[in-house]
Amino acid sequence: MTNLSKLKLSQADKLFVWHPYTQMEDWQKMRNTVITSAKNFYLVDDRGNKYLDGIASMWCNVWGHGENEITLKMISQMRKFQHSTLFGLASGPSASLAALLLKICKGMDKVFYSDNGSTAIEVAMKMALQYWRNKGASKKTNFISLKGGYHGDTVGAMSVGYVRDYFRAYQPLLKKVHRVPAPSVNIDDKNKSSDKELQICIQKTEDVLKNNASKCSALIMESGAQIAGGVRIYPQKYQREISRLCAKYDVLLIVDEIATGFGRLGNMIEYLSQGSIPDISCFGKALSAGYSPLAVTLTTSEIYRAFNGDYLEKKHLFHGHTYTGHALGCTAAMANLDMIKKNKLISKIRGNSQYIHNRLKEIHNSPVISCIRHKGLLAAFDIIKDGKPTFYVKNRVPIAYYIMQESLKMGVFLRSLGNTLVIIPPLAIPRTDLQFLMDVIIELVYKIEKEI
Ligand SMILES: *Cc1c(COP(=O)(O)O)cnc(C)c1O
Repeated sequence: MTNLSKLKLSQADKLFVWHPYTQMEDWQKMRNTVITSAKNFYLVDDRGNKYLDGIASMWCNVWGHGENEITLKMISQMRKFQHSTLFGLASGPSASLAALLLKICKGMDKVFYSDNGSTAIEVAMKMALQYWRNKGASKKTNFISLKGGYHGDTVGAMSVGYVRDYFRAYQPLLKKVHRVPAPSVNIDDKNKSSDKELQICIQKTEDVLKNNASKCSALIMESGAQIAGGVRIYPQKYQREISRLCAKYDVLLIVDEIATGFGRLGNMIEYLSQGSIPDISCFGKALSAGYSPLAVTLTTSEIYRAFNGDYLEKKHLFHGHTYTGHALGCTAAMANLDMIKKNKLISKIRGNSQYIHNRLKEIHNSPVISCIRHKGLLAAFDIIKDGKPTFYVKNRVPIAYYIMQESLKMGVFLRSLGNTLVIIPPLAIPRTDLQFLMDVIIELVYKIEKEI
């Protein structure tokens, strides 16, 4: 058997892959880090260097890396069968996981499977459109979404989660949607200004709903917080108010919990803790803890029933993927949800959240940072110079590169969103590793103070 951790890659071998969201011309010039093994919360590269997985492998990692109950159950499933289709057949793991999810996700009655968050969103949008069409309201074809929202990289998801800097070139593919502003709270906000912002956002949303409801199928929002389009943590009551307005104007509510579901903000199911009542909800990322690609779109019996009818009416949902409901992904998710419960993960997250809060106070007054946002195991702040956002340190080195390279030198992998440094560690990170992560972030801020 080849030992992959000993695999030697030449510099040329490292340049065959085209990386996502990466300026490859720069990447070729950098010291390319290739991960060849991993243990616990650390990734190990082909040179034997260890890095704490500071961004939870793009926000999905829960238990770190390596063998545990999840891998054992996946191996045992792999020996029974790996994949059998859900087109016309059911499968044990997909049925069992659906039953488990519906116990946790109150209000939801059916589970539709796909294999990544973006397609879970496409499914949600197709469900919403077809629900109204099947009910005879075929004019309800538009969507409302929040400014600064992000819902994935496929065409429908880009339309509702339009991030201009990313998606400008793809505009010709996209559908026009109504966009309303979303509020955000910082840890040091005086309640009054944020209350006013909250009221304005709700009022603007109601105006759009009032004028367009007859043509709108659904409003889509991230649940609890926006992340990839710029971190915004919703104030209390916001999501509940939006939910109430959607019901009032007969527009479906789609909540995207792909990044926040299963603990990120300190709650198992964010839409429940926000007091909102969605018609459709989407989960991905932490669902399968990074062990296998998997995502789900959940909905209510009201929506589901509108797809029933005579075969020739063609009311059924025309969506499915080759790997829909993959047995390994479903097995991983079941084992993961089981471990979350057994390890009392949510209460551990709350303890670690308090720790992050305390550590953030150390850099609170730094002249290069502003707008500290924090909830659960999500925190972010913006890098500024002379009170204004800035995207470079000295010698026109982009801040994003500086953060990635300096943190790697200190033994942590971090990736910022432009000039926003995001703290989003694996959900089960032990306190000692979290302490190391916060030490490195604070050290980075001090370095930026000198280098900016
Ligand atoms: C990551 C993410 C998605 C897209 O999921 P992928 O698995 O990357 O396709 C959608 N919505 C939110 C809120 C996300 O964070």
